[in-house]
Amino acid sequence: MTQNSVASSCIFCRIIRGELPSSIVAQDAKVLAFLDINPVHPGHVLIVPKEHHENIIDTPTDTMQAVIAMSKRVAEVIKVELPCDGMNVSMNNFPASGQVVMHTHMHVIPRFENDGLKPWPHKQYQDGQAESIAARLAKILSKN
Ligand code: AMP
Ligand code: ZN
Repeated sequence: MTQNSVASSCIFCRIIRGELPSSIVAQDAKVLAFLDINPVHPGHVLIVPKEHHENIIDTPTDTMQAVIAMSKRVAEVIKVELPCDGMNVSMNNFPASGQVVMHTHMHVIPRFENDGLKPWPHKQYQDGQAESIAARLAKILSKN
């Protein structure tokens, strides 16, 4: 499938082109923000690049910066205007993470004290494992 045919059938590209209905809350030159159709809580917003990219890795850095900037703005506004007590700002990347729509998107999810939602469970490192992983990653990351 070519990139063009992916974009022509992509549900978020179709929303961006106005071919599908959406509840738009904000936009700028690079990104569109609209309500998630099945919210975790009402006011759950998705922020998507207007160009078709699939995930955080293939999205250009300046486009991710625009997604983050809009996410921050949406977070500021929902905190006061919904209002909510907090918010989760997160992305799923690749199906293994739970990504269902293969067009880069950030979730801004309103949260409330005692709303009963539990994020993922945490594990403990084995002896030496954290040091080993951190050293491997730091070696590569220090080069870029
Ligand atoms: P993800 O699991 O991160 O890929 O999340 C995709 C999100 O897109 C889900 O939370 C869906 O509820 C949402 N979604 C799917 N179709 C639409 C649509 N037509 N308009 C708004 N949100 C949608
Ligand atoms: Zn798309």
